[in-house]
Amino acid sequence: MNLYSNLGILIVDKDEPTCHRIGVYLSKKYWVWTFNSGKEALAKLKQVQADILISALKLKDMEGLNFIKKANKIFPKIYVIIIASSADLSKKMEQLKDIAYDFITKPVDEKQLNLVLKRAVGHQQLLKKKEIYKELSILDHLTRVYNRRYLDLMLAREIERSKRVSRPFSLMMIDIDNFKEYNDKIGHPAGDSFLKKFAHLLMKSSRILDSVYRYGGDEFLVLLPETSKKDAIYLAKRIQSVVKEEKFEGLEKISRSRFTISIGLASFPEDGFSTEALLTLADRMMFKAKKLTRNKVCFQGQAVTN
Ligand code: GH3
Ligand code: MG
Repeated sequence: MNLYSNLGILIVDKDEPTCHRIGVYLSKKYWVWTFNSGKEALAKLKQVQADILISALKLKDMEGLNFIKKANKIFPKIYVIIIASSADLSKKMEQLKDIAYDFITKPVDEKQLNLVLKRAVGHQQLLKKKEIYKELSILDHLTRVYNRRYLDLMLAREIERSKRVSRPFSLMMIDIDNFKEYNDKIGHPAGDSFLKKFAHLLMKSSRILDSVYRYGGDEFLVLLPETSKKDAIYLAKRIQSVVKEEKFEGLEKISRSRFTISIGLASFPEDGFSTEALLTLADRMMFKAKKLTRNKVCFQGQAVTN
């Protein structure tokens, strides 16, 4: 199914024959729901997030304007088209022009309906495409956690925010220990599945405000807002034990019973004030953990042994 036919249209009008006629006509191309009652239409909108709303000014149980305002609150991106007689439209145009994108005059003429719908569909398709591209541009294509480009943006914002409110935050650089062996012996596709599962595990074990990024290869970063170094150490140890307890497939083939990770920590403001300073330190600490026999959490000056 393409984006065109994927669009949903909600038609709401007290006038049953008009509602029915437009509904039958448009359902040849789109998902269509028709209602005479505003309350029922709002309930449907909560379930289906229609893309386009065609609403009359009089509904069975409420005023059309009141209904549209409520619909907009539920789904602000909905494209509103008002259907009314030309007399009603011109009488209320001052109020209507700010809440509707377009208008259809009654009695409904198919040519006008097609023209207005074409504009609405074009607008909403573009919106959907933009949302898809936006998502693609911030997510890592394999693991679906955030990518490094997005990290640069979020880290800069976190520094600004934490400076403003004089609060600490921390970041955790995580690298999987001896992952290459798994990849080489079991194969690249299995390695890919491993990375996906690992990323999911990081998301599951982090708190609601934390965010997870793929830094590159088997290296991940967790951004911990409002978190001091002491709390970050505790969280890093917790993530280490979650990973250690997880049963990854194929471990028997590399004669290992579990996977471990090395973690480097850096905290704002004590370890630096810039994205570069914090990332460099976290990376340096992660390499220190690797050197100290892996499976460790390292931070400026010290290491935690597991
Ligand atoms: P260390 O304990 O020092 O971290 O060693 P390591 O074996 O984990 O190797 P290292 O971190 O230096 O290199 C990461 C390896 O991860 C290299 C490559 O085999 C694998 N890798 C990186 N990106 C991908 C990917 O997208 N998919 C798969 N399947 N493997 C990847
Ligand atoms: Mg590694």
